[in-house]
Amino acid sequence: MNNFAQIRQLVGLRQAAGMYGLEVNRFGSARCIFHGDNNPSMKIYDDHYHCYACGAHGDVTDLTAQMFGLSKTEAADKLCADFGISSTRSPPAV
Ligand SMILES: [Zn+2]
Repeated sequence: MNNFAQIRQLVGLRQAAGMYGLEVNRFGSARCIFHGDNNPSMKIYDDHYHCYACGAHGDVTDLTAQMFGLSKTEAADKLCADFGISSTRSPPAV
């Protein structure tokens, strides 16, 4: 299984946003991809985003899923591939 928490730790949201072409302004805000946003309403934090207009909220995996029209699992796979994370499919140590 993918470990979303591990991805969240390893891939900064701003880093992923930049890599995937989401423009984040100097105030750390971006135009929301979850609603038709004319002004940057979505605040990009290091580990999550929050849109103050529509209330969209999530982590780097949610953002990637939305940007590319992927399921959350597919988005996690993409993040692993793009950021060179290889261990998330390893079985959890029990
Ligand atoms: Zn929004």
